[in-house]
Amino acid sequence: MSVIDVLLLTHTFTSGPRPREDKQTKKHPETRMKGSPVLSLLLLCICSLYFVGLYLFMGGFLLVRLEVNRTSTCGDVLQPGQEPVDFCHTRPRFRRAVLIIIDALKIDFAQFDSSNLAPRPYENKLPVVEEITSSRPLHSRLYPFHADPPTTTMQRIKGFTTGSLPTFVDVGNNFASSAILEDNLIHQLGQIGKRVVFMGDDTWESLFPKKFYRCLPFPSFNVKDLHTVDNGILQNLYSTMTGNDWDVLVAHFLGVDHCGHRFGPDHPAMADKLTQMDGVIRSVIDRLQNDTLLVVMGDHGMTDTGDHGGESLKETDAALFLYSPVPLFPGPPSQDEPDIVPQTDLVPSLALLLGIPIPYSSVGQVLLPLFPPHDQAEVAPTGPSQLEALWINAKQVNRFLETYSSMAKDIPPPRLSQLKAEFARLSSEYLATVGAGRSPSPQLTASMQAYLTSVRETCRATWARFNPLKMAAGLVILAFACLMCYVLSELSFVLIRENARRLKAPAVVALAVGVCVAVGQLLTHGYIEVAWCLAAAALSAELLFFWSVYRTRTVHVAKNGSKPPKWTNWLTRRRLLIPPILVAFLRCASLLSDSYVIAEGRVVTFLLLSLVVYTPVHLNWDGLLLPPSYDPLKSAGLLPSPALSPSFVRKESSTLLACVGLLVGSLYLSLSFHGCREEQGYCQPSPFLTPLSRLQDSQMKNLHYALSVVSLGVWTYLLRHCLRHYGNLNSSGGAVFTARWILPLLSTCLGLHWAVSATPEDSFRNLGEMIKLAQLLLPRAAFCLLALGLFLICLDPLTVFIKTRATASARNSSLPLPRYRASTGISPQAELHHLIPQIYQRMRRSLDDNEPSVGSEVDNRPAVEAYGLGTVYSAPLLLFCGLLTLGMLLLHPEGMALSFLLLLLEMGALLHIHASATTLRGLQSTYSGGFNVPWAPIVMWSLAATQFFHATGHLPTFPSIQWSAAFVGFPDGHTGTAVPASLVTLNTFASHILFAVSCPLLLFWPLVCEARGSRGGRAAGDEGEDAVMEMRLRENPQQFSSALLQLSTRYLFILGAQVFASVSAAAILRRHLMVWKVFAPKLIFEALGFVLSSVSVVIGVTLVLRVDVAVARWFKRLIPDSSR
Ligand SMILES: [Zn+2]
Ligand SMILES: [Zn+2]
Repeated sequence: MSVIDVLLLTHTFTSGPRPREDKQTKKHPETRMKGSPVLSLLLLCICSLYFVGLYLFMGGFLLVRLEVNRTSTCGDVLQPGQEPVDFCHTRPRFRRAVLIIIDALKIDFAQFDSSNLAPRPYENKLPVVEEITSSRPLHSRLYPFHADPPTTTMQRIKGFTTGSLPTFVDVGNNFASSAILEDNLIHQLGQIGKRVVFMGDDTWESLFPKKFYRCLPFPSFNVKDLHTVDNGILQNLYSTMTGNDWDVLVAHFLGVDHCGHRFGPDHPAMADKLTQMDGVIRSVIDRLQNDTLLVVMGDHGMTDTGDHGGESLKETDAALFLYSPVPLFPGPPSQDEPDIVPQTDLVPSLALLLGIPIPYSSVGQVLLPLFPPHDQAEVAPTGPSQLEALWINAKQVNRFLETYSSMAKDIPPPRLSQLKAEFARLSSEYLATVGAGRSPSPQLTASMQAYLTSVRETCRATWARFNPLKMAAGLVILAFACLMCYVLSELSFVLIRENARRLKAPAVVALAVGVCVAVGQLLTHGYIEVAWCLAAAALSAELLFFWSVYRTRTVHVAKNGSKPPKWTNWLTRRRLLIPPILVAFLRCASLLSDSYVIAEGRVVTFLLLSLVVYTPVHLNWDGLLLPPSYDPLKSAGLLPSPALSPSFVRKESSTLLACVGLLVGSLYLSLSFHGCREEQGYCQPSPFLTPLSRLQDSQMKNLHYALSVVSLGVWTYLLRHCLRHYGNLNSSGGAVFTARWILPLLSTCLGLHWAVSATPEDSFRNLGEMIKLAQLLLPRAAFCLLALGLFLICLDPLTVFIKTRATASARNSSLPLPRYRASTGISPQAELHHLIPQIYQRMRRSLDDNEPSVGSEVDNRPAVEAYGLGTVYSAPLLLFCGLLTLGMLLLHPEGMALSFLLLLLEMGALLHIHASATTLRGLQSTYSGGFNVPWAPIVMWSLAATQFFHATGHLPTFPSIQWSAAFVGFPDGHTGTAVPASLVTLNTFASHILFAVSCPLLLFWPLVCEARGSRGGRAAGDEGEDAVMEMRLRENPQQFSSALLQLSTRYLFILGAQVFASVSAAAILRRHLMVWKVFAPKLIFEALGFVLSSVSVVIGVTLVLRVDVAVARWFKRLIPDSSR
């Protein structure tokens, strides 16, 4: 049997059950892969469906508010009249203020019920409030103080100092710092020279760095500690008060909150704590002077279990107690008193009482009872009257609204113009009243209040409320996108065969629907809301896709009688209930529980381990792991003998088991690189996470450095060794240049950079400048090398080296055809199709045998040798990922080099396990003809991505973001936010990106490993055939495309299912206590990870397609035009 016959046989066998495709293949003898542009486009479309779903959900769940970076000035607050007076230079009502914040002081704690004879531990423990309010009604009031969710301390401090409504994400320019840059009370007090003294919870210090005249922070982190902060304050409070070097005193007590977290409110410890606070309030009141205002308040409440963060009434309703030694209110409590005071209202009230401008972004409303009515203004103390206060307030709010709406477009335009018209009306009415010197009508006051309320409500509706419709639409689109990925992965072959005809209609319809909705919105509302146009487009595309799939199915059923073709059974229960998918679903389900999210690093490691162990167990179950025992029937020739020899099976099995061992080992080791969440009190963060420069012990430092450099060296060596092993380092193309020179250079850069950054600047005084320069130049050089390398790989991805052993005449680009061309006797087109593998095989053989030319080379015709053709697809991909990994390693602390080495080992082990399992499965002789990657390795791949997210010290929480990545190569900081943001993103999602880009390796690796078996395990012919490795993909371009599509859609399905689970968790548990602490950050990380992963999948697939184009060109050059 000649080589070509064997090949022909192989070919017909591989596409055996579907002769129709074979014909089609022959009709298009193009050697390039089928439908390649379609593939990238299709993947992009699917990704964009996911993105639309995520965008909609996020739009409904995480409301984003833009921070307005403007500050109010004294000149803003000019009152109308003959001679406007500078507000800051009028005498304020109060010169000084004492602000006592008792964390988590809910209104129930402050109220006193004398009829309650058996009070709970938290009831009736602050009698001072009741005593004062009843005995001195003109001096004091107690109000419920309504906090806007999220009711966490930091968000609340932001709320009652800026007067704005905090949303989950405040988009501002405070990159890498929690400092409040929005205009706020503390800033305004500082502007006019008031001395603000702060003591207590150290959150304030990070929110207002360097803003205090004096600052006495105490650690707030340990919730079990009830007394450190409070006692620290008490040691300083009274002495400060009696001293004279302060104007505003802020004291933030934490004991009540910590007591709630530790014991709950219904505990004797709470009674002690509240009684202590009662004493504090009494002592402070005793020391107050007449020019001083006292504000005692809680920042939020607490639930019956003592927690907070959500939006239940128990959490939102804190207490606000106001007192002054001089009469503060115009009269005793009346009907007009507000029932409840929103927390934002404290800001304008305090500002006007203390004589400072209202912070720019405040949407609060002055607390009217604190200001004298117009008719009393002459007899009453200084400061603005009720109407004046309202006017100043309304003017400020209107100005903010104008600035905000010019920056962000999220306030509905009709509402905005309504508010503007209302303000214009009020303004003219007020000015007319003042100009005429008339006393204002009560309606004016009322309508000003109504205006302020409606502005606040509009802002709240825009920023701080879930939008259930958007959330639901996002969920539906995401769910459909997941389902679509699944269907596509099952139908990939049909789709590629049809050249994706089926997908054109949905795309066109989606576009049309989107435009229609936009036009409809424009006609009815006068403006376009992009989210809904996208939603309509995405939904219509998805529905049309499902309908077309369904219709094809029914048509097929009708045509072929009762029996539908095999590919239409895509959603049977049995196919979904296989262990790998179950593991994936288990992982998704774990996202719904806060404790599993907290322990995610370990959970994912465990799931990955189980799935890895499952592979050999399953193989053994099927009797494939051990070589077949001696079978008399087989030896007698009654049954077909196995395709592989027992020794080969034994070798393959031991490889598999060794890889499982390696994987388990590296998984175990990688556990020591985990970071710690705030919630895991017992946990110690990995010592490798600290940058070398912070290590004190020099011996330890050297050890760490040596370990990192050795890991880096081993890493680079392994990658290069792998490439050299398969002969990919011989040619002179761009990719090979990258592998030969850029890769080692990059790792040298990295090693040097670590050495430089670990050197303390004062150790070599003379070299200080040099070190500084090196810190700047080395990482930048590395970035440039990286960019150059990636560019070269994309430009010239071929790593094949052709060597002609021949007479000098053959040394031109068009090589003569091998001799057997004429003797095949099949049609020229089909021959052209088969020629490629033939050439390859001949090359391969001469390579293997280390002889110039063998076999059919009877005469002296030139033979061709090509190195690296067998790994022509995987080598550039591997190199690409390798370079990316080095780039990401640069952004991590030095100690992570070891972790990245483990990542490489784990990737290799996973690929080998997959390859060995595929080879052993090939024994079962049910060779399906495609290159389909089963679910198990794909699920393992996605689990490994999450596992390495944790094993590189990352966590899905904002405090754990490694901000230092932003300063690699930019030690002096940045001017914009784009560069640091992308650096930090690359650092955070390194493992997501790496695993997604390298995903196509799962398709290639079984073929690469095929070379190890002396006879191709998958080949049907067993006579003298060499392994053709990845050239097999070129033999079956359609199956290559469909396998690539299937692989990527399966990966996208798993990722999509994860992100869907995370989104559902946020939607279902949006009233859960941990929503802002656990689920919402997890959702953001999961969504960002998905976006980057899916884009990386597309990049990986596009790179493969790029290689395919290059390979096609290469072959075209090899085959002379005369033969076409
Ligand atoms: Zn608090
Ligand atoms: Zn708390």
